[in-house]
Amino acid sequence: MISIAHRIELKPNNKQKTYFRKAFGCARLAYNWGLAEWDKQYKEGVRGIKARNLRKEFNAIKKEQFPFVKEVTKWATDGAFEDLQDAYDRFFKHLADHPTFHKKRDGGGSFYMGGCDTVLSETNRNLKHLKGIEHNKDGKHQYLGIPHLGFVKMAEHLRFNGHLNSVRISQNGDRFFASFSMKITEEEYVRTHPQALIDKQERKVGIDMGVHNAIILSDGIKIDDPKPLKQNLRKQKRLSRQLSKRQHARTKQERLEGVKKSNNYKKLSRRLGNLDRHIANIRRDFTQKLTTVITTHYAEIAIEDLNVKGMQKNHRLARSVSDVAMGEMRRQIEYKAAFNGVSVTKADRFYPSSKTCSCCGAIKSDLTLKERTYICPACGAVIDRDYNASLNLLGLITKTIGMDGPESTPADLAALLSRFTVNGIATSKVETGKQQKSYV
Ligand SMILES: [Zn+2]
Repeated sequence: MISIAHRIELKPNNKQKTYFRKAFGCARLAYNWGLAEWDKQYKEGVRGIKARNLRKEFNAIKKEQFPFVKEVTKWATDGAFEDLQDAYDRFFKHLADHPTFHKKRDGGGSFYMGGCDTVLSETNRNLKHLKGIEHNKDGKHQYLGIPHLGFVKMAEHLRFNGHLNSVRISQNGDRFFASFSMKITEEEYVRTHPQALIDKQERKVGIDMGVHNAIILSDGIKIDDPKPLKQNLRKQKRLSRQLSKRQHARTKQERLEGVKKSNNYKKLSRRLGNLDRHIANIRRDFTQKLTTVITTHYAEIAIEDLNVKGMQKNHRLARSVSDVAMGEMRRQIEYKAAFNGVSVTKADRFYPSSKTCSCCGAIKSDLTLKERTYICPACGAVIDRDYNASLNLLGLITKTIGMDGPESTPADLAALLSRFTVNGIATSKVETGKQQKSYV
């Protein structure tokens, strides 16, 4: 069985939107109540606290103290305690900081529902006037049943057959989503995920995830961030600059003094939120497609194992976004490779993939980040810096240094390039430079 996450947009009507917002509020209330209670009990000397027990305490007092939570599904508050347990588990395992209170924010919030109470329907069972009348004939969408609320239209049909573990309903900007967590069989995975079209036996690649958001394959292919992403990132920069000039509380002091957000601030902030989501979607789509093509084309892959978290701390904010994206890319390559029987070799952080000459193996220890072209002092090779690194990564698999260049045949390369094109991924040829080969 394979765990899989599957996110589908919901198309709630106004009544349902109001219900969701109410449920998000109740989830936040329960989470914050549980968090405060946990810390209070801990200070009083209680050990072995479990969110499950706090949930029982909450349920015992909710009728009295928070009667309004009855207006939404009990999952809104029950699920919050599962979230709380997760947050503490991560904290205890040193994977996250101590849980903090959830703040109310516009266009945000979520709640969790267990799979057992989740009903999916092919028809909208809410609508009495549709009873007996065929609708949704082509089965394009489905409806998600929520206790106490009824059926909410989903933008598409669930793509997998399998066991539903849980659903998380969330809001992002003006839109609502359901994230399904499912368990599917391996056959179902194979059925729903594209496999290699051609025999990928023996094909090897080194992948350098460069400093400048570009990915270089040792086959001499460069893949840049998609163009719309770049354009929207520029737009995002401009909007957030404008936003900071609109009237709002900039410090805690100003907030206490009651400085209000102006209407222009709110409007712009909404626009920025929508743009953020759009950018995240483009990036997600790009990463998914790219990693699928790579892990279905090659049989062996070598990548760098960078410490993403460490890098984030040392660099400016502008870099950290792309670091996270690279980390996500690496994660997807690893799990898709595992599914597709592709082996992944990870160079550790200290492997000098950039500093080694891919022609003669000499190490240029004083190579600076600014040097975009690798010029080998030992053998005189001149080669693009990132391409050189990708060749060295490939060398990790082939266990040789000093190769003539790409491993793939022209037919292999053509097949790969056409799959990139089909998926809307723009590629360019690496300027390989004058690569002199010398023998040591
Ligand atoms: Zn050299």
